[in-house]
Amino acid sequence: MLAEVILPLPLYSTFTYVVPEELEEHVQPGSRVLVQFGKKKYYTGIVEYTHSNLPQGYEVKPIMALLDASPVVRYPQIKMWRWIAEYYLCSVGEVYKAAVPTGLKPESESYISFNKDWELPDDFSPTDHEAMVIHFMEEKKRLKISEIESALKIKAAAKIVNRLLEIGVLEIDEKLVEKYKPKKVVYVELCCHQKDNDTLHSFFDLVNRSRQQEKTLIAWLDLSGWMSPTKAPEPVEREKLLSVAGTSPAVLRALIDKGIFRQVKRVVNRFNTNDAPASPLLSPLSGPQQDAFNAIKEGFRNSKVTLLHGVTGSGKTEIYSHLMNAALADQRQVLYLVPEISLTTQLTDRLRKIFGDRLLIYHSKFSDNERVDIWKRLLTTTQPLIILGVRSSVFLPFSNLGLVIIDEEHESSYKQYDPAPRYNARDAAIVLASMHGSNVLLGSATPSIETYYKALTGKYALVSLTRRFKGAELPEVKIIDMRDQRKRKLNKGILSDPFRKALRHTLEEGQQAIVFQNRRGFAPVVVCTQCGWTPKCVNCDVSMVYHKNTDILKCHYCGYSKPLPKLCPACGQNSIETFGYGTERIAEELHKEYDGFRVARMDLDTTRNKDAHQEIIEEFARHETDILVGTQMVSKGLDFGNVNVVGVINADTLLNFPDFRSNERAYNMLEQVAGRAGRREKNGTVFIQTTQISNPVLDYVKNHNYVKFYESEIEERRNFAYPPFTKIINIYIKNKDAASADIAAVIFAKKLREVFGERVLGPEKPFVSRVALWYLQSIMLKVEAGASMKKVKDILRKLYADIAGEPHLKSSIIYYDVDPV
Ligand code: ADP
Ligand code: ZN
Ligand code: ZN
Repeated sequence: MLAEVILPLPLYSTFTYVVPEELEEHVQPGSRVLVQFGKKKYYTGIVEYTHSNLPQGYEVKPIMALLDASPVVRYPQIKMWRWIAEYYLCSVGEVYKAAVPTGLKPESESYISFNKDWELPDDFSPTDHEAMVIHFMEEKKRLKISEIESALKIKAAAKIVNRLLEIGVLEIDEKLVEKYKPKKVVYVELCCHQKDNDTLHSFFDLVNRSRQQEKTLIAWLDLSGWMSPTKAPEPVEREKLLSVAGTSPAVLRALIDKGIFRQVKRVVNRFNTNDAPASPLLSPLSGPQQDAFNAIKEGFRNSKVTLLHGVTGSGKTEIYSHLMNAALADQRQVLYLVPEISLTTQLTDRLRKIFGDRLLIYHSKFSDNERVDIWKRLLTTTQPLIILGVRSSVFLPFSNLGLVIIDEEHESSYKQYDPAPRYNARDAAIVLASMHGSNVLLGSATPSIETYYKALTGKYALVSLTRRFKGAELPEVKIIDMRDQRKRKLNKGILSDPFRKALRHTLEEGQQAIVFQNRRGFAPVVVCTQCGWTPKCVNCDVSMVYHKNTDILKCHYCGYSKPLPKLCPACGQNSIETFGYGTERIAEELHKEYDGFRVARMDLDTTRNKDAHQEIIEEFARHETDILVGTQMVSKGLDFGNVNVVGVINADTLLNFPDFRSNERAYNMLEQVAGRAGRREKNGTVFIQTTQISNPVLDYVKNHNYVKFYESEIEERRNFAYPPFTKIINIYIKNKDAASADIAAVIFAKKLREVFGERVLGPEKPFVSRVALWYLQSIMLKVEAGASMKKVKDILRKLYADIAGEPHLKSSIIYYDVDPV
């Protein structure tokens, strides 16, 4: 028997391996296997299918090991990987790589380290080789599996390492990821068999001179269910025993020394649930919400993807909760996608109250081990559960998916930009749902133009909520002309007069404010005022941003940083100055201006730690901070009752993007930030500071008129042949040599034009034309919406294959961005 194996590599095909006879019965689609690839490397692969067509012309290697008793990937998942690879023009191996947590796919290049918290369990007796690896690794810090292999000179080290990873002796070490400590609980067991009354009597004899010890023994018998005629006794949690018996650890120790008790540590899966049924803690829906709920159900009955277009604060989340409750009652699983980790934080609190342990969270701030835990839990259960997560949760092994909710469906962060697969989780989730026969609800106050178009043309069902919950009003939007402010010298730094006053007023009234600026760091512009020198990143074609807290210049594209020079490196004068406002600087200015009020900042720099999002959001929710300054992280989805003023520091950067989605992005962003204000009884006010007061987008935001905005935007799209009237594929060519990138792009574009003619635009240098040492060129392919994309993609691959051997193309990396956002 042969198996086609998917490897985590950017290669287009699968690879054929021989299934050793003894494994034939066990190897199935979705099985995890260890295989050798190339001379010395090995990888963990996933079996796609088995067959008996021996390939000709090369020797087929055997599978080295089967890693689990049953498959770790379900069949619909592999089907979805295939769909993603095909649709987004990448390899199925790249999808596999992104989909499965690292801990499940060790390879020879993975770093392994010894788990210091590990203790030898009683029932584990390592083989000689295992003992050897354990012993060896105890001494070492961090080694590649291939290094272990060559150091110990044992052939099947890979398999042994895998087994030790499984039991937890070794860990995959991802350096940057925070270490996961398996949650361990100490239990107390009685050293005596349930039926063995003689021994039990002897135990009582042993404790009869200590009241405390006797009490502890009796408490244990009670808690463990020892007396039950039908059930075996359960070990008792040490802490519980101590508290119920009211004794000290010393007493327990004495009992252990007497050989009456023993302690065992158990790793508990932190996502274990006690399967409590969902509690009826749902808030009743208001009239309009109930109507929307019914209309959504109607959409589902016609098995249509349904769009809930509800203004900010209309109570979409409440409707989702009712829908999820219904799905759980039908014994189905739910995927609830959100675009940002910061959103999972607030939702976790809200949903935990209703759904308790049936709610599982999945995102990148979890360590890989925690992600492996959730993966395995979903593999072994068909229980109704809710997964709340970001983009990558679409890859989890759902078994019984009944409902997919995609909140803030318009968000560009659903699209993965780098590395491949460059997929949109919204669209992938819709495909996933169709594979499971599951319902899909898209929710947004500002639907993407494509989605709303589909809803209006009948492809999706459309349900609208036009009022906020309990009649709260949408906030008043004030557009502030910063040019005028400066001319009349009314502004104080970046703060306009009206905004500054309103902010003071709201703070003094005991209310809170959110301030939005889409730039992190202190000052985005650093210039020598004498000679005009600006610091550029050594790897990228961008200027570096000054971060005051750490006193460095930083590249926001590749992360490169260096100190801010005291003297200008070009002219040697003491004349370097910083300009512009990032969130760090705004927080500092607000702090100075509103002395005595507390300012918190939420951006990439302040949320590197695992719990940082949560802490910042919770402190603000408890009103321990008064002003929350942040990047787009503060703009979406958050629900705070006490925020009355929202400020957009500089809308110009949003309005000026050279891209066909510029208006859409600006409208969404502004309407969403505005939506954070006045979500309860009091009316909110939003200040948008700009120098472009007559930009029409601002008018639509002022009137909260999405539909009008949509109507004008769809006309533009039609006139200039942009999505949804066309499909776009951006083709990127990157090369470490600028001239080669250039030539390769010209050759490829010429080739494309032979077939696609005027549908090909470019090549051109992208906005940032060099990133992390790679020079970039891009070509845009714009195809009519009705055309067969499958055909287009087949042609693309073929055209590329025809010219791939040309030296400039050969030294370049080509990748595709399908449906860019
Ligand atoms: P959206 O997601 O549409 O922006 P939310 O679901 O966050 O709106 O609702 C806004 C606020 O109104 C929340 O604080 C929410 O708890 C409250 N709310 C909405 N619907 C109800 C309801 N049916 N019962 C009680 N509170 C509700
Ligand atoms: Zn850089
Ligand atoms: Zn200078």
